[in-house]
Amino acid sequence: MGLAAFQSPGRFYRGNIHTHSTRSDGALTPDFVCKAYAEKGYDFLCLSDHFLEQYGYPVVDTATYRTESFTTILGAELHAPENSQKELWHILACGLPGDFAPLGEGETGVDLARRAVEAGAFVGIAHPQWSSLTIEDGRALAGIAHTVEIYNTGCDVENVRGDGTYLLDQLLSEGHRLTGYAADDAHFKTPDAFGGWMMVKAEDNTPEALLAAMKAGQFYSSRGPVIEDISIDGETLRVRSSPVSGACIVGRGSRAVYRGAPGMVEADLPLERFAGDWCRVMVMDETGRQAWSNPIHL
Ligand SMILES: [Zn+2]
Ligand SMILES: [Zn+2]
Repeated sequence: MGLAAFQSPGRFYRGNIHTHSTRSDGALTPDFVCKAYAEKGYDFLCLSDHFLEQYGYPVVDTATYRTESFTTILGAELHAPENSQKELWHILACGLPGDFAPLGEGETGVDLARRAVEAGAFVGIAHPQWSSLTIEDGRALAGIAHTVEIYNTGCDVENVRGDGTYLLDQLLSEGHRLTGYAADDAHFKTPDAFGGWMMVKAEDNTPEALLAAMKAGQFYSSRGPVIEDISIDGETLRVRSSPVSGACIVGRGSRAVYRGAPGMVEADLPLERFAGDWCRVMVMDETGRQAWSNPIHL
């Protein structure tokens, strides 16, 4: 999966799949939000307002904001009872039909995630650290969801709980196959926009092509650095990137290797410690921003 972004045809499109507007608890109208991301040079956006009764179960029709260089994917952040913290689940569903049915009688978060997958969505476990999700929560959704939110700008800015890799890595070590994506979860009440995004490799910048690529793991995520390529030659992994200060591979438990040098654009990292298992690649720049590959199964 982690190499798919660099082996599949097409080009990279930059997008954010988790963001809110005045259709739920965001500060800006859908029109403003879509235009803000388009003006920042994003190729696509999924507006994911809270799918709650109090907001009228919105799947906001953002199709009117599509231009020749910018597309939108319909979606929502789904909520239903109940995670291990006795709170509503937050489940990101990117790629929902506009008439996705409201929460049904007795429907749980797990049921709702399954219904979203069946409706065609790319489904993610949102902000696990902010929600204090446990491994049991992860297991409940692991066979259903496609992906884990490994970075959330809003949670990072507002309470320094932006990480999701702790949950992804534990699920990977149990044998689950999930990818990891970065997103803003912007509400535009704090500096929570344009901080973490996906780079999706697709043939076209259309919702259909982007969603298929996301489900196939053809993306990496970033807060700044560009990953140009990741390739494997025997026992060595090579990563090429924009100038960074370090690169690392992490895997099961505490397994990790690191190479660093100022302005580094290429690094060769040994894979021996990850043989027959999974690993993830990251590059880090001098300001502390990173880019994440998807998990690689060796
Ligand atoms: Zn949420
Ligand atoms: Zn959200």
